[in-house]
Amino acid sequence: MDIKTLPRLMLLVLALGCSGSHSLWAQNSYNKQVEAQMEVAIGQMNSGNYEDANLTFRQILKLEVVLPDDLSYLFAETLYMVRQYHNSKNFLDKYLRLAGPNGRYYAQAMDLKHFLDDEYEAILVCKLCDNRGYRLISCDLCHGTGVITSECYFCRGVGVNLCEVCKGDGITTSLSTFGEIQYHTCPNCQGKGQVPCKVCHGEKVTRETCPDCHGTGLNAGNEICDHEERGSSRAIEQQSSRTIEQ
Ligand SMILES: [Zn+2]
Ligand SMILES: [Zn+2]
Ligand SMILES: [Zn+2]
Ligand SMILES: [Zn+2]
Repeated sequence: MDIKTLPRLMLLVLALGCSGSHSLWAQNSYNKQVEAQMEVAIGQMNSGNYEDANLTFRQILKLEVVLPDDLSYLFAETLYMVRQYHNSKNFLDKYLRLAGPNGRYYAQAMDLKHFLDDEYEAILVCKLCDNRGYRLISCDLCHGTGVITSECYFCRGVGVNLCEVCKGDGITTSLSTFGEIQYHTCPNCQGKGQVPCKVCHGEKVTRETCPDCHGTGLNAGNEICDHEERGSSRAIEQQSSRTIEQ
């Protein structure tokens, strides 16, 4: 964790932790395994170990049983703490939808929503990440160019096609009124026997917008963006200029 994010996290701890530590609900009885795992996750959250809580919650989700509403909030808070803002927002929205204003974590959920809104504002302004907050990296498929270049299928990369009018001879013939054969320079290829390829226009290659990055040259990686420029990556400069163009 870098120092810049620390005050924000501390603020959240203050805001969310004001009602004391998280504790396990008592009123409902859920799957025993879920209860046991939730207790583990809450313990990890209370000791500030959000990375492990994240893993525990993911194991609970894998059980594929009916889960308590509270889990959605607790997982959302955990995801915020490990800076997975997009996932956090999904679980927070789910909690608010399921539990509503009477939910046990409603106040904390509203606080978390404000914190997430701030994060999303930063994500929207940032040119270095996608709209989920994942750092953009150069596209592997097009090597950051946004374009896939391949050998022209029509001329097989030669750039020219045989002239269809003279069949490559460069000469056309006609009969005079006296029945004599007259020779002419082919008007279609000017006597060359070849014409520029009608698909690639002589470029020998065809270009398509990269299907992976949709022509931006960038894809989201696995890293959560800190919205800080580092070094002078060409990909980043390209993205900045493209975003301004859009
Ligand atoms: Zn010709
Ligand atoms: Zn061609
Ligand atoms: Zn690409
Ligand atoms: Zn960013």
